[in-house]
Amino acid sequence: MSAETHAAARETGQSRCWCCGRDRSEDDLVHLATHPEVGICINCVQFLRRRARDHQASVIRQRLRGAAESIRGEVIARGWHQRPVIGPALRWVNRHLPW
Ligand SMILES: [Zn+2]
Repeated sequence: MSAETHAAARETGQSRCWCCGRDRSEDDLVHLATHPEVGICINCVQFLRRRARDHQASVIRQRLRGAAESIRGEVIARGWHQRPVIGPALRWVNRHLPW
């Protein structure tokens, strides 16, 4: 939907969510700070918050996985995985990592 359509809708007292496209009352919309013409309904704000949280969790998982891979590389490069106590402990940790 274009900005003109949204502006026209607002002039008639009708507002439309820029996310789901449903007609909403102006009170049910949250507006972006630097783009006040863009209104998003509460349902979509909550939906976007969930998506942001999932995205953030996925980024953190990727970073942890990257760190684990890096540590694993260091351990293998130093031959620590072949030591009597450290080796089995590292293999146990490796099996129980969540990825
Ligand atoms: Zn919406």
